[in-house]
Amino acid sequence: MSKVLVIGAGGVGSVAVHKMAQVSLGNAGIFSEIHLASRTKSKCDAIAKSVKQRTGVDVPTYAIDAEEITELVKLIEQIQPRLIVNLALPYQDLAIMEGCLRTGVDYLDTANYEPRDEAKFEYKWQWDLHGRFREKGITALLGSGFDPGVTSVFAMWLKKHKLKTIRTLDILDCNGGDHGQAFATNFNPEINIREITAPARHWEKKAGGNGQFVETPAMGVKQQFTFEGVGEKTMYMMYHEELESLSRFIPEMERARFWMTFGEEYIKHLNVLQNVGMTRIDPVIYEGHEIVPLQFLKAVLPEPASLGPTTKGKTNIGDIATGEALDGSGEKTFYIKNICDHEAAYEETGNQAVSYTTGVPAMIGAAMMLTGAWKGADGQGGVFNMEEFDPDPFMAMLNEHGLPWSVEELDGPVEF
Ligand code: NDP
Repeated sequence: MSKVLVIGAGGVGSVAVHKMAQVSLGNAGIFSEIHLASRTKSKCDAIAKSVKQRTGVDVPTYAIDAEEITELVKLIEQIQPRLIVNLALPYQDLAIMEGCLRTGVDYLDTANYEPRDEAKFEYKWQWDLHGRFREKGITALLGSGFDPGVTSVFAMWLKKHKLKTIRTLDILDCNGGDHGQAFATNFNPEINIREITAPARHWEKKAGGNGQFVETPAMGVKQQFTFEGVGEKTMYMMYHEELESLSRFIPEMERARFWMTFGEEYIKHLNVLQNVGMTRIDPVIYEGHEIVPLQFLKAVLPEPASLGPTTKGKTNIGDIATGEALDGSGEKTFYIKNICDHEAAYEETGNQAVSYTTGVPAMIGAAMMLTGAWKGADGQGGVFNMEEFDPDPFMAMLNEHGLPWSVEELDGPVEF
């Protein structure tokens, strides 16, 4: 029995369910039944209809507000899944983990918990549940998207096959896609804008000292870089959650940074929105009602899922790591990456590449858990990050299920 309940019917949920259905055709044992629940049932139904048309697989659907724990527990007890794949929003992580704890079901997500009233995300709240998950003998896999997710698996693959130690790590995330809109975000606008407008942070450790995060102003450090399949782009240093888990699990790192590309138009719009207060997350009174400006902005921006039909171009996301070579040949630098085409992703699942590059690793993480390829250190359960498991079976599935990767040796460390 490997019944799975997916919660969240956005772009990422849609891709994950389509891919689970595809996999279940080739290997019914992995996803024997796929159930989909979300706040708006009509969105679940639209996904189920597309999955049925494309694969013939039936996906039962349900309406649920995942923050209503009593209702959530009832739904879990009714479906009795082995695993819950949380593809709703980071605000729901702790409620869904609580639902898993009360019902004894495994858990997976793609983004770490974030409180609504503070633009702050960190693993602490979820790591704190390790003891309770262990006591219950169930497992939680955190951050099984692309970044976080594949970027950590890439780093661990380099550590297993190429480098004894990683001295510096740069994660480069380029979305070279053009959706034809003046301003739109490629995943949930509220979460995306909260992330981008927060101060940048990167990891630094001086020889012999303890590592720490160094904070710099949001979008304050930028760099030109030529991305294969896309061309030259400006990328900006920012904080991203995998830096927290990578610095914990690769403690020797002297520096770890995360970079993301943004076009001039995007930055121009974002600056204006910020300057006029539209990205605020504290409530303001408008005509006697409390509204949160960023939530209102989300309501008027295009739904990320609607960008699929018009988005053209490619994403290119990867890690550049420098460290001591495993074969004793001195310091080496490797670049490992995936390039994904927006139009091909849309053709296959009805969603653009940002949803695709997140939904496929969510499906693969779920497969790792359901097949037992990834179990906690001693198989006794707990809360785990991607860095804690053998990267090889995950990397093999990336190649087989639409996210092929390549690795090359560079002449030397990055010069920026
Ligand atoms: P969307 O906003 O498109 O979809 C989110 C879905 O969750 C919607 O269907 C929404 O319902 C549903 N939802 C929201 N609140 C609740 C609730 N209380 N109960 C039940 N369902 C709820 O987001 P995306 O699909 O773009 O992203 C999904 C997740 O993936 C996010 O957590 C995002 O941060 C993460 N992500 C991770 C990436 C990675 O690489 N690791 C990259 C991109 C995204 P409704 O339609 O009613 O609003």
